[in-house]
Amino acid sequence: MVIQPKIRGFICTNAHPVGCAAHVQQQIDYIRAQGPLAGVPKRVLVIGCSTGYGLASRITAAFGADAETLGVCFEKEPSEKRTATAGWYNTAAFHQAAAAAGLKAHTINGDAFSNEIKAQVIDQIKASMGQVDLVIYSLASPKRFDPTTDTLYSSTLKPIGKAYTTKTYDTDKDQVKEITLEPANDDEIMQTVKVMGGEDWELWLAALSEAGVLADNAITTAYTYIGKELTWPIYGHATIGKAKEDLDRAAAALRSNHQDKQLKAYVSSLKALVTQASSAIPVMPLYISLIYGVMKQEGTHEGCIEQIYRLFTEGLYAAAPQLDEAGRMRMDGKETNQATQAKIKALWDQVTQENFHELADYQGYHADFLKLFGFGLAGVDYDADVDPVVNWS
Ligand code: NAD
Repeated sequence: MVIQPKIRGFICTNAHPVGCAAHVQQQIDYIRAQGPLAGVPKRVLVIGCSTGYGLASRITAAFGADAETLGVCFEKEPSEKRTATAGWYNTAAFHQAAAAAGLKAHTINGDAFSNEIKAQVIDQIKASMGQVDLVIYSLASPKRFDPTTDTLYSSTLKPIGKAYTTKTYDTDKDQVKEITLEPANDDEIMQTVKVMGGEDWELWLAALSEAGVLADNAITTAYTYIGKELTWPIYGHATIGKAKEDLDRAAAALRSNHQDKQLKAYVSSLKALVTQASSAIPVMPLYISLIYGVMKQEGTHEGCIEQIYRLFTEGLYAAAPQLDEAGRMRMDGKETNQATQAKIKALWDQVTQENFHELADYQGYHADFLKLFGFGLAGVDYDADVDPVVNWS
């Protein structure tokens, strides 16, 4: 099959196995080039391991510290007629590279919110790793089925309190336009917190601890985005921000509930980047295109792998990590500092349909978007016939 990108709205509905493998290899090469990581443990669980920040976390632990990794993801397998999702191909490529490097890797593909997948993960830890010393929680999901109450919750991306009118960039129509987002009601806020808040993170740690597979002095972290004034109305102070606030509550509860094990639980705030999750958020394609331009000019641009490498070295395994007033690790300072934000705000105020491609780095945004699905990577022949059926064991 010859695989060319099929873009529908903010998503690409297919993926290229060879391109995804090249994208994974680029991240492995980056980590290898930094040299071995000190102090990072050898038994690591990554929940949400197949794309974006979770994949970068898995690559950092494995190829930076020779860790045995167990990943959980929710990806669609390929058939003769249909490509798999990008996360599937990324995972296959990760397994292949790990095996070539003599690293142990296990992946469980299924719904991380379910009791079955938690049980399978525990069985796998018992069978191979014994215990885990680092648990990364990097899920981004639009829905959560809660098996204890038999309820399906859906998250929404809406402001809270009042409607919000702002600029956005319609990637489909190549159009800068105004949108008005209606405020969420209480039920929508509650459901978003159920999906993207800290409850499931707590359930994971409780299950691991009860099964005796959480090591003493383990570290766990969940990822958040805090942002600044430009994104607060749709992110920080919106439904998703409420869910992210709940992570702060959960981190405190985890520290307190697992004191016997001296569990360290942190929320880590990362910068805005193109991922499958962020491209679905209104305003983000415009905001990210603008910050890409500004940060590349400043020489401070980072992708997922650079962010996560710094999180490991300057945060999670630093001798004296800097925490913010809420006890969070902050890797987003290069984006959220006042000087950079002032430049972005000035561009934001000026940007129109006419000058968008001049003021924003949409080319960079779009190239990164395509890369998420394995397209546009140097050295990959996109006219070649490739077998979409790729697996890992
Ligand atoms: P992503 O879409 O690239 O990755 C999501 C991962 O979750 C994938 O591995 C996917 O398979 C997995 N997943 C989704 N639903 C699942 C389910 N039910 N069961 C098992 N696995 C499931 O997203 P991302 O942007 O890397 O986001 C990861 C975390 O980082 C999120 O908490 C997000 O809010 C946070 N974050 C993202 C940004 C950003 O700009 N992208 C910035 C800061 C923080």
